[in-house]
Amino acid sequence: MAKVAIVGATGRVGQYAALSISRIPYVREIQLYGRPGSEPFLEGVARDLIDSFAATGTDSLVSWSSDIADLKGSDVIVFTAGVPRRPEQSRNDLALENARIVSDFAVKIGNIAPEAFILMVTNPVDIMTHVALRYSGKKPNEVFGLGTHLDSMRLKAAIASSFKVHVSEVHTRIIGEHGDSMVPLWSATTIGGIQITNLPSFTRVPIEEIMHHVKSSGQQIIASKGSTVWGPGEAIATLVRTILGNENRILTVSAFIKAEVHNIGDVCIGVPARINRKGVYPVPIRIEPPEVRSFQQSVEKIRNITQEIFSILQDGEKDFP
Ligand code: NAP
Repeated sequence: MAKVAIVGATGRVGQYAALSISRIPYVREIQLYGRPGSEPFLEGVARDLIDSFAATGTDSLVSWSSDIADLKGSDVIVFTAGVPRRPEQSRNDLALENARIVSDFAVKIGNIAPEAFILMVTNPVDIMTHVALRYSGKKPNEVFGLGTHLDSMRLKAAIASSFKVHVSEVHTRIIGEHGDSMVPLWSATTIGGIQITNLPSFTRVPIEEIMHHVKSSGQQIIASKGSTVWGPGEAIATLVRTILGNENRILTVSAFIKAEVHNIGDVCIGVPARINRKGVYPVPIRIEPPEVRSFQQSVEKIRNITQEIFSILQDGEKDFP
């Protein structure tokens, strides 16, 4: 039985992830972590969560803390702390601001919870996953990000709707950046076990429209209700359950790759990975040439920003010996 901690538990995604994770049978304790000063709020979240347990028959313990030392003993730490993008901010500005938060926590988590897996959710998630990996001192299989898992689920639902089939009949993946340069893998998409491109009706599928829907989904939800909550919350719980249940599922997450996709690597980015109790292992794959080219572009984009962020963080450290 496991302890799962949520760093950023006062936030919208963190709160719903806590509820969703509480339903996982392998979870003994959920710990809600928030910044010092957030104690009354954390207590409220804990009490609300506990109130839900009688209805669902859940038996987990709920604890809350603003002392990072209490993360000790965690099996999985879900990281949702960070600032959202402000109108005047570029993605890179946001990346730097959140990288400072993530790097600071990652160093502490590496010392306090050396056994814990880190599941990064904070955006830009691919870059934050790499920052957490480097600053926590953990191994690549121990740090991963939500990546394109939710994007893949959105594509799966859109294809199921377009073909009027049950969503469980569709298998598909989006790899690359959790962002504009994401790459749908039509070569790895099947409906009822049949390669989608072998279905005559594939020629009538509005691919551009579907991908526009997938890419803009998060933004549209944020514009209409302020934030995406249930989609990411359930996606987070799926990943936590896959690890704790040693399920060996292959899900598309942000993970550090060396050369698994056509020798492209040295970056944290969305790729299919086998996930079990020992961690997250990218699966070597071969994809179609246009998909390789798009993936290469996505990797270069993320690698460049990541390197820029690392060089600024290191300069910052030099200023403050
Ligand atoms: P939110 O409601 O604004 O919550 C942000 C959380 O971060 C709060 O707990 C907040 O604590 C904490 N925080 C902010 N600044 C902090 C700092 N300097 N140090 C420590 N904690 C700090 O945001 P949200 O909607 O939950 O989203 C959280 C993150 O997840 C965002 O980065 C968002 O972009 C990302 N996200 C990613 C995906 C994905 O698919 N990868 C999907 C959805 C969301 P206070 O309450 O104390 O301010």
